[in-house]
Amino acid sequence: MAAVCVYCSSSETIDDTYKDLAAAVGTRLAADGHSLVSGGGRVSMMGAVARAARAGGASTTGVMPAHLMPLEVADTDADELIVVDTMRERKRIMDERSDAFLALPGGLGTLEELFEVWTSAALDMHTKPVLILDPDGFYEPLWAYLDALRHKGFVRQQALSRLHHVPTVDAAFTALARL
Ligand code: AMP
Repeated sequence: MAAVCVYCSSSETIDDTYKDLAAAVGTRLAADGHSLVSGGGRVSMMGAVARAARAGGASTTGVMPAHLMPLEVADTDADELIVVDTMRERKRIMDERSDAFLALPGGLGTLEELFEVWTSAALDMHTKPVLILDPDGFYEPLWAYLDALRHKGFVRQQALSRLHHVPTVDAAFTALARL
């Protein structure tokens, strides 16, 4: 049993299939006996993962900066809703509370959170697993770009290998159980 931090979209203008993916992650997370750590929003994929996790019996912790509470609609149903002053504090608490990190499709915020936790893993600042769940090739252009940077010598293979790339919800949770 682990506390799994899920990074994902807060945008309401995305296709519903991504919200369904987030819900499937929440359902599986609960079925496997894990708890959820998230940014604590009710909107879009963030809301979907938290609602599905709770529906399956998982405990959910949300970490939300006070100034974002109206925009991202604070998840007041969370078992624990931690209200902070800054984004940095949000990420620090999400990091500290989590045993593993799982990024789903998302926008700038998701990328920012993923890159921080991934780069700190690559610098051996922590040993927690970092996974990216990509069922439909959403992240393929990013992956290709990073591979090009590796070819040019800007990115080490060792850093790339700290990010586990998985295509299905099942593969994500099987990998989490092994890591
Ligand atoms: P997005 O992927 O842009 O929809 O954002 C997903 C989540 O990341 C939202 O809850 C954003 O508030 C959050 N986010 C955006 N920028 C940051 C940041 N610098 N640090 C932590 N979280 C962020």
